[in-house]
Amino acid sequence: MRTFIAIEIPSEVKQGLRAEQQRLRDLLEKLDLPPVLRWTNTDNLHLTLRFLGETQAQQRRLIQEGLAGLAAAHQPFTLSLSRLGCFRSWKNLRVLWVGIEGNAVALHAVQSEVESFATQLGFGADKQPFSPHVTLARSRRNAPRSALRTASEQLRRAAAQETPQLEFHWSVRDLYFIRSVLGEGGPRYSTLARCPLRFDSQ
Ligand code: ATP
Ligand code: MG
Repeated sequence: MRTFIAIEIPSEVKQGLRAEQQRLRDLLEKLDLPPVLRWTNTDNLHLTLRFLGETQAQQRRLIQEGLAGLAAAHQPFTLSLSRLGCFRSWKNLRVLWVGIEGNAVALHAVQSEVESFATQLGFGADKQPFSPHVTLARSRRNAPRSALRTASEQLRRAAAQETPQLEFHWSVRDLYFIRSVLGEGGPRYSTLARCPLRFDSQ
């Protein structure tokens, strides 16, 4: 079973992200290109803390227990959306995203605990440093190069503008252990465990 650990995006923030996806799609539409991007379904928008990949039942039990304990040792914290950005680069676009900021100290503390916990359980360490983001779209594998570059150039310009429409912030109250089933119409995610962060004034 393919799994990962994530923070969920509240539905009103997802709606804001959906509107941003639509705005960008409309910009690209005018260029009259073949489809070069696969857009994330609104329901699937999330912030990945740690991708695990294939897991056995016994491993999932340990992950669930560990995640519950880890979550219970942290307080809820605030996140917000930041700017548009991409991986690898605007010249070689793979992932179009909206960055996450807010209480970066709390987020990085939680993520690094999730990271070391996953590594202890034997899941291969991520080579990339954690770069919190919500994926809006991915480049299609078969996208014609020149069309992708043209689209990316448009997106780069969009990313250079102010994005007041992305002014959302919210309180993170849970960490999620999620199952991912890959399929034709995109992946399907389902919640294996919701692990509450502890509300504790002391
Ligand atoms: P698809 O693979 O069909 O594009 P997806 O990437 O959304 O779908 P998964 O591949 O199951 O679905 O990934 C779930 C989450 O984990 C996503 O946020 C994805 O970006 C992230 N992820 C997947 N593979 C890795 C990886 N090797 N390293 C880090 N994060 C990953
Ligand atoms: Mg993937």
